[in-house]
Amino acid sequence: MGSVGFIGLGVMGAAMARNLAKAGLLQVVWNRTSNKAHSLAEELKVKAAASPSELAKECQIIALCVSADPDVLEVIDALLPGIQPGAVVIDHSTVSPQTAKLAAVKLIQVGAEFLDAPVSGGVEGARAGTLVAMVGGSQEALAKAKPALEAVASTIVPIGPVGSGQATKAVNQVLCAGINQAVCEALAFAEALGLDLDQVIEVLTRGAAGNWFLEKRGRTMVRGQFQPGFKLGLHYKDLKICLAMAEQIALPLQLAAQTLGDYEQLIAQGLSEEDISALYRFKRPA
Ligand code: NAP
Repeated sequence: MGSVGFIGLGVMGAAMARNLAKAGLLQVVWNRTSNKAHSLAEELKVKAAASPSELAKECQIIALCVSADPDVLEVIDALLPGIQPGAVVIDHSTVSPQTAKLAAVKLIQVGAEFLDAPVSGGVEGARAGTLVAMVGGSQEALAKAKPALEAVASTIVPIGPVGSGQATKAVNQVLCAGINQAVCEALAFAEALGLDLDQVIEVLTRGAAGNWFLEKRGRTMVRGQFQPGFKLGLHYKDLKICLAMAEQIALPLQLAAQTLGDYEQLIAQGLSEEDISALYRFKRPA
């Protein structure tokens, strides 16, 4: 049996937990909505813990992937009573660098360590175990966590101290905002020109303007299908983090700000659970 515990079995977390189980590393899972934990534990033949602290008592490596900043801190607080000295907590959620630093301080006080290891690659990457992980934290903690990281990610890049993984992820989320704007606007242009959209996507994906988002979400967005994927409400949360970071250094992030405003309108229409490609709703010809 493995030695890794996993907390947060959402779209990303459940897929990552499955890959940890496939690698023989997963021992126990916990999820706030407990039926998700029980059914995944049954499927993967691992334990479902009664609480985060019960999970922590059993594992030296604990990975988590939950929604937002307060959720990460809530989970860390709930882990603390059971945490073992020398344990390493790997956080795959996308949150602010400050939250990562706060989590690290809480864990250092009980003799454990923290790595911020946000991921890129979408739900497809999580299912395939080919995520890209950008990691902040000590080399010693990274060495202990390496097998668990390798089970979920094919690219693992140490960036620097705790918080630097999340700072890098913030840069990634600014890129995602620009790519979402560009792909939605370009495909709406193609639709307005009356072109065969499947053919347009086919050829452009192979050229210099080709990109992951066009390839994975282009065909669905032009059909009005916006199943996540990556929930718009989560990218909205990320862009708020990016804009707060940019404000501190007085750097304008125009595309990120525009995307945040567009998402705000979609969220007001009750669409926060749709994929970020739902931005196409605003771009397509009337
Ligand atoms: P999701 O499907 O909505 O799952 C969220 C998970 O977090 C659920 O298991 C949820 O538990 C748990 N959770 C939320 N608040 C909690 C709390 N206070 N205490 C304990 N558990 C809590 O989201 P996701 O798409 O997997 O994304 C998870 C994280 O990965 C986010 O930070 C996101 O930005 C990041 N991310 C997502 C993608 C993507 O493509 N989806 C890619 C890279 C990074 P319940 O089941 O009880 O609700």
